[in-house]
Amino acid sequence: MDIINQNKMASGPVVEKEEALSRRCAECRQPADNCFCGKIKTFFPSRKVVILQHPREGGKPLNSALLTHKVLGNSLLKVGLSWRNLAHLLHEKEVDQSRWGVLFFKKDDISEKPLEIFDRHKKPVEDKTVITGIIILDGTWKQAKTLWWRNPWLLKLHRIQCNPRAPSLRKQVIKGYLSTAEAVGFALIHLGEEGAIGEGLLDQYRRFIRLR
Ligand SMILES: [Zn+2]
Repeated sequence: MDIINQNKMASGPVVEKEEALSRRCAECRQPADNCFCGKIKTFFPSRKVVILQHPREGGKPLNSALLTHKVLGNSLLKVGLSWRNLAHLLHEKEVDQSRWGVLFFKKDDISEKPLEIFDRHKKPVEDKTVITGIIILDGTWKQAKTLWWRNPWLLKLHRIQCNPRAPSLRKQVIKGYLSTAEAVGFALIHLGEEGAIGEGLLDQYRRFIRLR
């Protein structure tokens, strides 16, 4: 997940001088000549996408959560450690949590199906239209685990198990995991959103990492 974890590059953490940081765009945190703020093509999937970002994850130059948020016009990017429940997270009075799912990746025992949905009792759900909102945890593997245990209400949502065949475009610590942009793009495509949306996100992610 920028998801589980793409941020530990084999080369180790990126150390930047203050001088270099000061030349970064204040909004997207990219070097000024690589700023993507004015180049985004926005899409509006039918499902709402919420990115829960661990506070220590934001601002990393290779993190794709902000890009994902900017590409998906109806998405939310929430930085923090815990929220009381889904309604609190969404600032809504009531939310039908049975229509929401959390993206989930595992490294072993991956199914043939690219994407599977399980309800809170781990029962498979065939009807993908049940899902109207998806949540993705953005952080290292350890940070994502922290987000899980700090937000026990996540266990009441559906689990959207992603089983990507192709590896991430970025070198990942754990095989089978994707960056946040890739994971969301993958999930949207396999949940049946209009192809142009997931592909549009992935295209812009490819450009984003090529900029480096
Ligand atoms: Zn920018």
